[in-house]
Amino acid sequence: MNAAIYPIKDVTPDVNSPQVQAWISEIDWSKVPNIPVAPQHPEVKHFPLCPPQGQENKAACWWSCAGCVAKTDVVTCPDSNSWGLTYDDGPSPATRSMMQHLSEKQLTATFFIVGSRVLEYPDILRDQVAQGHHLGMHTWSHAGLTTLTNHQIVAEIKWTEKIIRDVTGLTMKYVRPPYGDTDNRVREILRQMGYTTVIWTVGWDTNDWRMLQHQVQEAEVIQNFKNVVERVQSIRSQSGKACGPITLEHDLSEDTIQLSKKLIPLGQAKGLKPMNLAMCLNDNTPYQHGSKLGPGGAKQKSNGGDSTGMARGMAGMEDADFGSDASSKGPSGSGATSEGRWKLCGLKLVMAYAAVGLAAVASAMLSV
Ligand SMILES: [Zn+2]
Repeated sequence: MNAAIYPIKDVTPDVNSPQVQAWISEIDWSKVPNIPVAPQHPEVKHFPLCPPQGQENKAACWWSCAGCVAKTDVVTCPDSNSWGLTYDDGPSPATRSMMQHLSEKQLTATFFIVGSRVLEYPDILRDQVAQGHHLGMHTWSHAGLTTLTNHQIVAEIKWTEKIIRDVTGLTMKYVRPPYGDTDNRVREILRQMGYTTVIWTVGWDTNDWRMLQHQVQEAEVIQNFKNVVERVQSIRSQSGKACGPITLEHDLSEDTIQLSKKLIPLGQAKGLKPMNLAMCLNDNTPYQHGSKLGPGGAKQKSNGGDSTGMARGMAGMEDADFGSDASSKGPSGSGATSEGRWKLCGLKLVMAYAAVGLAAVASAMLSV
């Protein structure tokens, strides 16, 4: 890998370069909603300054400031016992420790990759693919995307796409916006570049990042996770139709890795099966190009997953209006029955986590 051809680390790449200009020209800008760029938070780097509560532009469907989930956002696994295991912000020196542990447990996860880190640890990425893990996009400099101009968003995504493709041969399909910071302007630009947005299940941010900032002790994080896991169990036993969670963790330090090693068995003890997002969403084509996962990848899931997984996996609070047109947006074969089932579990999940959700959304605003 020739590091000299890529942008400077941890800075939003130049939008005037010929390469970025070419990428910008591929977007149909008439389809991108005219939503203003969010101002930067004065104290939290890269994070937007949210308007006063209740004064957010509703049409923007701003997740990080208003908690709005669009129908196209992936926030859950469609099967109730599936647990989407995701690690953000790597690769880092601690990543191999997590990979080793997952390998021993015969598990695979989705790693949302920061492009700047690939410059430092390209070999880790290659080994992740070889070991059957699934890779997703987490931007070049980890900026809050609503705080960037349209052109800056393209630069952040496409340079990361390029470096990951150069290293692995794979073109990402799933993107997790840093801090979950997205709105309908960001979503449309990402969609046109071929990306599906993944947030996480409300209440299932493990808050491991707060440990890194010395805001909480590990014991508290573990207790919170136990409480949330208990709730999913009770919801499933009552309705039989709950969705599975997607958790947020970080492969940033040995501390977060050690924590994750403790959380995995807690979920497994309650019947949750940890897996990468391709498996959780029953997606056999989890990349735009370059395709398949290695050992332990999507095709090894044995629960009869079907091609409607993506349609059922997308949604959230907005889907509280049953009978919307979401089923028409899914791939062919997503019939009314499975769609209805999905919506039901999506709604229940949102309601069940409303209490913890508010706190989680608030804390996520400061997430690394
Ligand atoms: Zn992140």
